[in-house]
Amino acid sequence: MTSARTRERMVNRLIEQGITDLSVIDVMRRTPRHIFLDEALAHRAYEDTSLPIGHGQTLSQPYIVARMTEVLLSGGPLGKVLEIGTGSGYQTAVLAQLVGQVFSVERIKALQDKARQRLGVLKLHNVRLRHTDGGLGWPEEPGFDGIIATAAPLGVPKALVAQLAEGGRLVIPVGGGEVQELLLITRRGDSHETRVLEQVRFVPMLGGVL
Ligand code: SAH
Repeated sequence: MTSARTRERMVNRLIEQGITDLSVIDVMRRTPRHIFLDEALAHRAYEDTSLPIGHGQTLSQPYIVARMTEVLLSGGPLGKVLEIGTGSGYQTAVLAQLVGQVFSVERIKALQDKARQRLGVLKLHNVRLRHTDGGLGWPEEPGFDGIIATAAPLGVPKALVAQLAEGGRLVIPVGGGEVQELLLITRRGDSHETRVLEQVRFVPMLGGVL
């Protein structure tokens, strides 16, 4: 159930669902998703669904990981990328293989510790993790070419927009309900441009750390 063949089926489904970026497809074909889950759930890793990772959090559905990554990359190659919500580390691992450097923040220490270990197993060394409230971004490292949030705030955090480089892209689910809107925000000088992409379901972005 964790073989290359199951992974190939997952990738074929992504293509049917409209994912077109071949670099994203190729990375998801190569990245073992099952190591980002607890053993009891590993056999479900390649299903087209989000899965629990403990502490009331979830590893996003493969389609959503692919779609958000594709949108983030669609403006051209990315150097520095910030992720809010490391969770299992799967999205982090996908990004690390496609961009220069990934900065990823997580508010639950226990999840961050597991993610760090898994990223180490995959020898992804261009990742920096920090245990903090991601609504504040990573203020010491402004100038991100891309920011991706995998938890939904009620509104777009100003700190995140402020930490985008010129032309930088923020992909973020926003809204307080069970269903949120996935937004693409592009920094243009002192202003920014917002596009609504689609409806999504994410866990809420919460304040404070655990
Ligand atoms: N990208 C993750 C998705 C995990 S779910 C994956 O691939 O597995 C979203 C994660 O965001 C959870 O782990 C949750 O703890 C975290 N999160 C929620 N609010 C946050 C905040 N303010 N700062 C940092 N992380 C946050």
